[in-house]
Amino acid sequence: MDCGAEDPAKLVMVRYGELFLKSEPVKRHFIGRLLRNIGKVLSAEGLDHRFATPRGRILVYGPEPEKIAEIIARIFGIVDVSVCSITGTRLEDLSSEAVRLASTRLFAGMSFAVRAKRQQKLGLDSQELGALIGSAIYAAVPGLRVDLSHPDYEIFVEVRDFGGIVYDSRIPAPGGLPWGTQGRVLVLLSSGIDSPVASWLSMKRGCAVTHLHMDAGRWAGSDVTEAAIENHRRLSRWCAGNPLSLIIVNNEPLFNAMQEERIPPRYRCVICKRFMLRVAARLLGNEGALAIVTGENLGQVASQTLPNLAVISEAVTAPIIRPLITYDKEETVTIARRIGTFDTHPGDLACRAVPGMPSTAAVLEEVKEAESKLRIDVLVESSCTHVRFVTALNSGIRPEP
Ligand code: ATP
Ligand code: MG
Repeated sequence: MDCGAEDPAKLVMVRYGELFLKSEPVKRHFIGRLLRNIGKVLSAEGLDHRFATPRGRILVYGPEPEKIAEIIARIFGIVDVSVCSITGTRLEDLSSEAVRLASTRLFAGMSFAVRAKRQQKLGLDSQELGALIGSAIYAAVPGLRVDLSHPDYEIFVEVRDFGGIVYDSRIPAPGGLPWGTQGRVLVLLSSGIDSPVASWLSMKRGCAVTHLHMDAGRWAGSDVTEAAIENHRRLSRWCAGNPLSLIIVNNEPLFNAMQEERIPPRYRCVICKRFMLRVAARLLGNEGALAIVTGENLGQVASQTLPNLAVISEAVTAPIIRPLITYDKEETVTIARRIGTFDTHPGDLACRAVPGMPSTAAVLEEVKEAESKLRIDVLVESSCTHVRFVTALNSGIRPEP
């Protein structure tokens, strides 16, 4: 690579956090997965790249480092990403690139700090290295102040085994664990705000995800299924390179049956949620998933009281993960905005089956009696045989027959 002073060669430096805590074999496995995830998304975007993995870092070389960094900053398992200039390891190499970069960002009156780190012995320790480069920047731009606690501008200089690097920005990435390292979960995905956040948090914790949406037909608001597909499409940007599948199951017959069998309307929500879990549990094996994830939250709506959650959970033996159970709505909305799933004009998402007075403490025996009247197992079986798939890859959507 060319290291000319005007246009230095660059690399993208990737930091991963928690992976550090793992034992060597686990770390190797996780980093391998992370490299595959990064490679898949860069290839899908048509970006040439090459990796190096010096201790504790992943380096990505390629002709479009800024674009590579922007894409990588959405990948789970990564803490932050920096586009770095590659320099020699001599003081004058590091210093001249630091001065060049800092001069493009600093103006009179601004404060700055140099953060220096050195893996390789230079004859100087890190502090001395920082001080010398700081002096060079100070001399090059008039009117600066050094402030090591709260600087307006920070520049990082590192001397590593593979060479010198200089950079001044750290693009925050989501952290967590690489997609797929924790096995697969089936996420009950609605048109709402909560379940997309629950899905994102599951992906963040290393789960591969399959989405499951229940289409209540005439009982659902007219925009519900489209909004759920949109949630699915937006979430696929967070696992780009890995296909994200959405299974759509029709549960209109359940609501028709509850009306025909005159099931007490106050039990509709609990029976509906138990039905969703049953369908999910029935599909787990097909998807190779180990647990069901929902966006349920303690006390948010009538069906989400503790007594109701106990009755709902009783429907299946599969593990149910509720990442948002203790979140305030505001906390969930903040994440939804950040991850791009919050919609200010969501359309008609009202559920027409919700009764005026839903039960807040359903009695399990009564619920089970209602379900046997409904022949719930037959309804579950028939719903599971008429499913639709939508696969989103790199935020583009590919409907499957
Ligand atoms: P959300 O909770 O996702 O904002 P919501 O408020 O419309 O949607 P709730 O009644 O709170 O739905 O449902 C609790 C959970 O049940 C949801 O978080 C979601 O995991 C699941 N769920 C609700 N409706 C559907 C649906 N139509 N398809 C799949 N899952 C659903
Ligand atoms: Mg909800």
